Amino acid sequence: MKPVERSSDIGASFTLHGAGVSGGIAIGYAHLVSTARLEVAHYEIAPRDVEAELQRFDAAVAKVRSELEGLQSSGLASALTEMKAILNLHAMLLNDSNLSVVPRDLIRSRRCNAEWALVQQMDYLTSQFEEMEDPYLRERKQDIVQVVERMLRAMLGTGHAPARTLPEEDVIVIAHDLSPADMILFKQHQYAGFVTDLGGVTSHSAIVARSLNIPAIVGLHHARSLVSEGELLIADGREGVLIVNPGAQVLEEYRERSRELEAERRKLRSLRTARSATLDGTLVELQANIELPQDVEEVMEVGAAGIGLFRSEFLFLNRDDLPSEDEQFEAYRAVADAMHGMPVTIRTLDLGADKSVNGADRAGPNPALGLRAIRFCLAEPQMFLTQLRAILRASHHGRVRLLIPMLAHAHEVEQALAAVRHARETLDDQKIPYDRGIEIGGMIEVPAAALSLNYFVRRLDFLSIGTNDLIQYTLAIDRTDDTVAHLYDPLHPAVLQLVAQTIRAAIRARTPVAVCGEMAGDLAMTRLLLGFGLRQFSMHPAQLLTIKQQVLRTRIDEVQPLAGRIGRAHDPAKARALLARLNS
Ligand code: PEP
Ligand code: MG
Repeated sequence: MKPVERSSDIGASFTLHGAGVSGGIAIGYAHLVSTARLEVAHYEIAPRDVEAELQRFDAAVAKVRSELEGLQSSGLASALTEMKAILNLHAMLLNDSNLSVVPRDLIRSRRCNAEWALVQQMDYLTSQFEEMEDPYLRERKQDIVQVVERMLRAMLGTGHAPARTLPEEDVIVIAHDLSPADMILFKQHQYAGFVTDLGGVTSHSAIVARSLNIPAIVGLHHARSLVSEGELLIADGREGVLIVNPGAQVLEEYRERSRELEAERRKLRSLRTARSATLDGTLVELQANIELPQDVEEVMEVGAAGIGLFRSEFLFLNRDDLPSEDEQFEAYRAVADAMHGMPVTIRTLDLGADKSVNGADRAGPNPALGLRAIRFCLAEPQMFLTQLRAILRASHHGRVRLLIPMLAHAHEVEQALAAVRHARETLDDQKIPYDRGIEIGGMIEVPAAALSLNYFVRRLDFLSIGTNDLIQYTLAIDRTDDTVAHLYDPLHPAVLQLVAQTIRAAIRARTPVAVCGEMAGDLAMTRLLLGFGLRQFSMHPAQLLTIKQQVLRTRIDEVQPLAGRIGRAHDPAKARALLARLNS
């Protein structure tokens, strides 16, 4: 547990420590948001308004009831197996007095607004579920959250919250936890920063936070309960430090540091058009990771050589239906068009684990090891076919490549390739054009794949190493769980051996290989990966120019011997010391 330094005075300065997930310094005022996906205003209502507030709550219950009924008889329920059962469960939860009656009592007794009453009750119920021994029942807390989210959405715009006057750029969002779906919603805002109590640095929430390119800190443990709405904050995303109510001198120091960081960022921009090569002239391809088509703008701004990873599943979050083939095609084509012939690597759906379609959670009791990514797609062939057709159609409009996540078994490779063949046949039948030479690659992110690479290099056109999951699965730590975040170690000898060995085997087989996990954007790892032989990196656009600067300062023949020693080191302390030397 991280230390909490606090004096007893309200308004006194104190500091919280967590893990910084994205750089920079934010200075702004605290805005507390609920654990649910929507921001929840909390305010006191006047006694004469209680009846109206109860009616507002009842109207939301009725609206969600009819929404669920509509979904139960819709195409989505039949498109996704088990969906119907989930919708039935949600309808049952909605009708339970815990959700439809107890919040009414809270509105009456505590005179809190309907959203706030509902979220208090949700927090209570989910904490009860968390304590359950049975993992299946424990997981049902997600269903409660999903039903509450629906109810909150139904109340949206019907309340009378006092208007918030602060511009978003002056606001630092504080939440207990934020899901990747929550995070993606924040792309539409211009907040100064984010901090959360939970979360690991390579969780998908942290990854999206990083892509927002604003300071963010996770794993603060107590921020949500110790910080009050409107308090002045400094969030240092490099050090993972949150300073609450800073004194004038501290504030001035951080303002100065923030100005320096901005000046550095401006300087880096001049590298945008520089040739991406090491001092000895070795070309290094620096590509970008994106979640949504709109991210392409930033990709172009930093002069990336293509999209190395388009996490397509983000198109599926925060909605009640599945995007149609045409809608997906338009999204993929927009990216292909905008990249003007540069490679666009679209990863097929990596749903499951910490990302799920609204109300269609099939993650099971242990989501990271459950029906995720290619496993989920093979279990939902219709959904997979729709996506494959959309990607293939987009390949007619640019250099689109197809990337399959989480492969572990030879039969998964074969089934995925067969699914692509089938999608091609259906397009051929309809005389719909697509790139007949489209490359199909696989992510190497399960140790089993890294250890049986010969098969993968034979069957696939390219590989992309997903270090986030490779580390998670090699070290058996849930990347979303901050209680084991300290065990998440990219320098663990087993991890380094798997990464080095995968790069080596791919080079030997002349199969192009990239790293697209967070390791690719980690400045401390650039020289090591170059020394291992890596020549393709894919990362957040915000990291690209920093990594380019490091590439430009590196000589391959100088880093190779040390990188080799680090890759063979059995002692992590020794690996760390050698890495420090490599980077000095
Ligand atoms: C990875 O696992 O490293 C990766 C790039 O995929 P994701 O982070 O989306 O799981
Ligand atoms: Mg992954």
